[in-house]
Amino acid sequence: MTLARAGTGFFGGAFDPVHRGHLQAAAALRGRLGLQKLWLLPCAESPFPRRTGEPPPAPAKLRLQWLRQATQQRSGLGACGLELERGGPSYTVDTMRILRERLGAPPVFAVGSDAFAAIAKWREPRALLGLCNIAVLSRPARGAARGLAECLSAELARDFEFAAGGEQARHRSAGTWLRRIAIAPLDISSTQVRRRIRRGEPVRCLLPAAVADAVLASGHYARAREPA
Ligand code: ATP
Repeated sequence: MTLARAGTGFFGGAFDPVHRGHLQAAAALRGRLGLQKLWLLPCAESPFPRRTGEPPPAPAKLRLQWLRQATQQRSGLGACGLELERGGPSYTVDTMRILRERLGAPPVFAVGSDAFAAIAKWREPRALLGLCNIAVLSRPARGAARGLAECLSAELARDFEFAAGGEQARHRSAGTWLRRIAIAPLDISSTQVRRRIRRGEPVRCLLPAAVADAVLASGHYARAREPA
């Protein structure tokens, strides 16, 4: 199966805050797909409820600013404020509709394997899978790795023809693709960063050097973090 090479990709998430695992995954993905530019795309507002007891995220403007600082010196990576311009809950299907129109071709959308495993619960998953090409990045310590088809409902999986041992798929009518990209991921999460800051533990080794001071100086994750 030949997969079209594309020039521009988008890596979506909350980035609350951006950490070294995000940047490492983004750089690896860009190299693997030969992307000219990979934009890290923070959501304005996650459509999913926070875990019980989890404090609210850092303001979207701050998360975007940290992403800009973190990617400034990294050629080929950038931060995209599209979902903030739109405001409200950030539904990926809406964002991909806009990007597809702007690019005139299906955008490449990157997600970690944990996020992809829940894609059937996203808004309009069937439309989404026909709008963009999806690169699924390996992520450690997130339970047993499931095949791409197993992450989709049977109905969604029927839209695809799978190849390469289930690691790639082509949409039967839209021509978009799914592809697992095996990278050597760092075992870092934003949850871990937030928790460590709340406990006063060191986090510089987890954060991009360009943003460590700004994240800590914001005081965001340190103050009033315990639920009432
Ligand atoms: P949280 O711990 O708050 O859930 P997170 O670390 O998973 O945050 P997100 O902003 O939710 O970060 O992630 C954005 C995207 O990056 C998601 O698709 C996620 O799967 C992926 N991702 C996050 N951390 C890593 C990592 N260490 N390696 C590879 N992909 C990652």
